[in-house]
This record gives sequence, structure tokens and C-alpha cells, in this order.
Amino acid sequence: MSIQDSICPLCGKPSPRGEVCGPCRVAKIQWLECPSRVQVVVCPTCGARREAGTWSDLPWEAADLVGSLVRRSLVFHPELRDVDVDLAVRERSVNRSTVECTIRGRLFSVPVEGSCTVEVEWKKEQCDRCSLISGSYYEGIVQVRGTGRRPSPREIEESRRIADAILGSLNAAGERLAFISKWDEHRDGLDITVGSQRLGREIASGITQTLGGSVSTHPKLVGEKAGKQIFRVTYSVRLPRYSRGDILVVRGKYVEVIGVEGRLFRCIDIESGTTRLFREGQIERRAGRREDSTLWQVIFRDRDLLGLMDPSTGITREVLVPAKGVFPPGSGVHVFFDGERPVILP
Ligand SMILES: [Zn+2]
Ligand SMILES: [Zn+2]
Repeated sequence: MSIQDSICPLCGKPSPRGEVCGPCRVAKIQWLECPSRVQVVVCPTCGARREAGTWSDLPWEAADLVGSLVRRSLVFHPELRDVDVDLAVRERSVNRSTVECTIRGRLFSVPVEGSCTVEVEWKKEQCDRCSLISGSYYEGIVQVRGTGRRPSPREIEESRRIADAILGSLNAAGERLAFISKWDEHRDGLDITVGSQRLGREIASGITQTLGGSVSTHPKLVGEKAGKQIFRVTYSVRLPRYSRGDILVVRGKYVEVIGVEGRLFRCIDIESGTTRLFREGQIERRAGRREDSTLWQVIFRDRDLLGLMDPSTGITREVLVPAKGVFPPGSGVHVFFDGERPVILP
């Protein structure tokens, strides 16, 4: 074997079998490719981010985002091993930053180091959802109404909470175009304007599952797009005649509604404390609501009479002791008035 066979033909340094040596091979290879610029597209209204043509609501944090975008934009030689990337971000302006990248690794066992600068441009663009909302686009309205009454503040609150939760779960499942563009609370109840029919349908059934009542659906043809008919749907939620917190009269006795189960009202008998289900037809009338009660103080007990003090006037009034419960002087009781008649609530 001659000496020529064991040196690198390019640099003359020893090389087994006379091949081009590692450092000479590496010197000829462009092992690092850096884009001069990467772009971040963000919706200024909702913070959604577009990547590869698709908008997404995944939360992001500026520094992490820049780091991961720049890292992903770097292209290395497939044989590069033990890669170590070091980034130094510098803010240039509100929508521009530069990232100095230092890359170290081993290529064909030869340590290599390279660097480059990537400019990150922040671009603001309204996302698909926000442009639909700003264009007043919608696919349906959920109307929440009561039967012979306005929905109670608690029912309105609960409806909002249910709608928000359903919106959140659809969004989390990737349905970006499920949105609520308007909440309108007025004297008849609550109107929720929704961006997708699926959202409207799910909100309406979610509300009746919790608050009882029924839903009727009214589609209306509003136009045609690409040969397809376009409907807007009204989801009419009709809450039951009575709701939780109502004090009702059934067979001459006071009961309080503690829940609605389909068409039945779960009620607790104020006198005996027993729970029963009633149909709407069994209920004589509504006497009022628990919120209408006030806290009175027990002053004395004299056999089956309680002396209670009206907090607003300071005047003591005698009321029959309910069959259940203990009423030590000094304690408070909730008193509800059915017309002139005081009723002690448990
Ligand atoms: Zn060489
Ligand atoms: Zn947006």
C-alpha cells in the first residue's frame, strides 16, 4: 500500500483508504439552510393564528412561538448529529424581530458550527371567524322564553353559562366557526345569535336539559349560495311555567320547586319537608318566589306561636310554628308573604 493510498487527495492529511477526509467533505457541504424571514399571522381581534393556511385558536406566547417557528424553519443536512441550536431574539419594532441562530453539531463525526439571522415578521390579519362576525353573518338564533312568564334572572344566567360552555367545547373540538356574535337580553327573555346551526341546536337542547321545557325549530330560507339553499334557524326554547325557587300552592299547601325534570316539577313541601313530583296540571297557582322572602328574627316562642321581628319595621308579629324545624330565639327565619299571609320557609 503506497503513501498516496492513505492521504486525503484534497488536503493531503492522512485518510484511511485515501478517501476525501471528513473535514474536506464537510467543507464542501452546505449543511445548514436558513430562511431569511418567517412570518407570523395573527388575528388582531381574537388572537387566532394562521399556519399553513389554517386558522387555529391554540393559545400562544410570543417568545415561545418565535422560538419554535424559527427552529422549525432551519433545515439541516440529514447526517447532522448532536444538533444544538441557540437562539437570541431581538425586538426590532412592534411587528419585527430578528433571531440570531447559532447551530452546532457533528457532521460525519466532524464538529461543525454555523450561524444565520432570521427575521420574524408579525402580520395582522382578520381571521375567518372574525370576518364572518364583522360581516354580521349568522346561522341561527336561540330564543329563550318562559311559559306565561319571563325567564327568571337565574334561568337567564344559567342559559348564558350553558351556551358559553357548549361554545367552549365545540371550539376546543376544533369548530372555529361556532361562535356567538350577540347576546340580547330583553323583556321577553334572552336571544343568542350563533354562527353555526350545530351550536344553536346544542345550546337549545342543553338549556332544556337543565332547565326543563321544550325546543321548537323554525328554519327560514334566506338565500342560495353555489346552488345550495341557505337557512337561518330559530331555536325557540320554551321554559316550563314554573322554575326552581318558585313557591307554589298544591292542594292548599305550599311547596317550593327545587328542580324541573322534563315535564315534572320536583317540589319540597314547606310544611313537612317531603319531596314530590307534580305535573303542571296539579299546581293550583304560584304564590311567589324564594327570592321574595326576607330574613326575620325569632324573638320568642309561646307554645305553637312564634314571635318574629320584621327587619324593616322592628315590629314583632306572631306566626304559627311550622310542624318541622327548631326555632331558638335569636335565630333567623326566611319569611315569605302570600298576600297578607306569612309563610316560614325552611
Ligand atoms: Zn482532506
Ligand atoms: Zn379572529
